[in-house]
Amino acid sequence: MKTIEVNGRRYGWMRESLVVVCVDGCEYDYLTEAARAGVAPFIGRMLGTSAFRGDCVVPSFTNPNNLSIVTGAPPSVHGICGNYFYDREADAEVMMNDPKYLRAGTILAAFADAGASVAVVTAKDKLRKLLGHRMKGICFSSEKAAEATAAENGIEDVVKLVGMPVPSVYSAQLSEFVFAAGVKLLETRRPDLIYLSTTDYIQHKFAPGTEGANRFYAMMDRYLARMDAMGAAIALTADHGMNAKTKPDGSPNVIYLQDTIDGWIGAGQSRVILPITDPYVVHHGALGSFATIYIGPALRETVAAKLRGIEGIEVVLGNADACRRFELPPDRVGDLVVVSTKHVVLGTSAARHDLSGLDAPLRSHGGISEQVVPLLFNRPVTGMDAGKRLRNFDILDIALNHLEARETKREMREGTAS
Ligand SMILES: [Zn+2]
Repeated sequence: MKTIEVNGRRYGWMRESLVVVCVDGCEYDYLTEAARAGVAPFIGRMLGTSAFRGDCVVPSFTNPNNLSIVTGAPPSVHGICGNYFYDREADAEVMMNDPKYLRAGTILAAFADAGASVAVVTAKDKLRKLLGHRMKGICFSSEKAAEATAAENGIEDVVKLVGMPVPSVYSAQLSEFVFAAGVKLLETRRPDLIYLSTTDYIQHKFAPGTEGANRFYAMMDRYLARMDAMGAAIALTADHGMNAKTKPDGSPNVIYLQDTIDGWIGAGQSRVILPITDPYVVHHGALGSFATIYIGPALRETVAAKLRGIEGIEVVLGNADACRRFELPPDRVGDLVVVSTKHVVLGTSAARHDLSGLDAPLRSHGGISEQVVPLLFNRPVTGMDAGKRLRNFDILDIALNHLEARETKREMREGTAS
């Protein structure tokens, strides 16, 4: 069997079209609750076929995890450890969504180079350039679908192909467009490998099992069932989980780190960076459970010790310990890393967060508490090392090296006809 090697791991060639789906913010319970409510029968079948829990990358944010999934490696290898970081050399706070920050090739690009037809569809355009870096093939976002050109995106007339108007960037339809595009690409071009990545707009607003969440998963279920019916292998995972981050009265449960530290040692002595920061902050107010702090060696230990004493702080680590534990690139992480507990988020200064756009109680991610994510397949899995810690970035390894062939699947489906 033909194989390719990427970032030290070996992947078998697709035997049939493979669709890998990264459902943004998909806490495991979203799937089980939707299946239990009877609105997601196909997901229910996947849960009964091959379903695992694995760990995502911390910080449990979108970009580090999407890049881990498509490189099969942690951020210490691919370099993307947030949406936003402080560039020490340039002395500037900058977005990390430019492909120049990527330090490893993707599995997608490697397959395309080896002759596979590959297609990538993302909800937001911020991820498109990273995921499609140096990749021959189709790569576009729902957000900028109307602007897709053959030269830039490997495809044109996307809106006509998908048959859906371009949705608002803050909507469930932005993700629906991704699934609809996946179905149309399978129907019309049958790529060997499709990577679909949604947005967590719904997950930020609705808890598992609520009507708003179940409506989203019912929609997703219909598209996945169609791809399955077309004979595609399907592998589903998530970039991170999602938890309520509120006080009992429903207000955001925030520790404003910059204000707190300035109160101890004075302003201008430290710099708090929130790697969740990006241009689309309406639904979370740039509040997540992970922060990194730039601070001189003289005050570092004092501040770390004081932070450890605050209720709601789960972990405070120095750069080396944090990068070892979470597999992060040390040059893009501050002197301290702070992770808050399950229902607590970290801010900089209260004045720097605009929470006026929060129209629902805050739900967010970023911490260790959002690390558990699902890995689901529509085929039985064989030959996996049962003792190994499973990661979301093992999804392509499992899908390409450990899935049983389709024939076995047919027998199984006949046995569990719905
Ligand atoms: Zn995400």
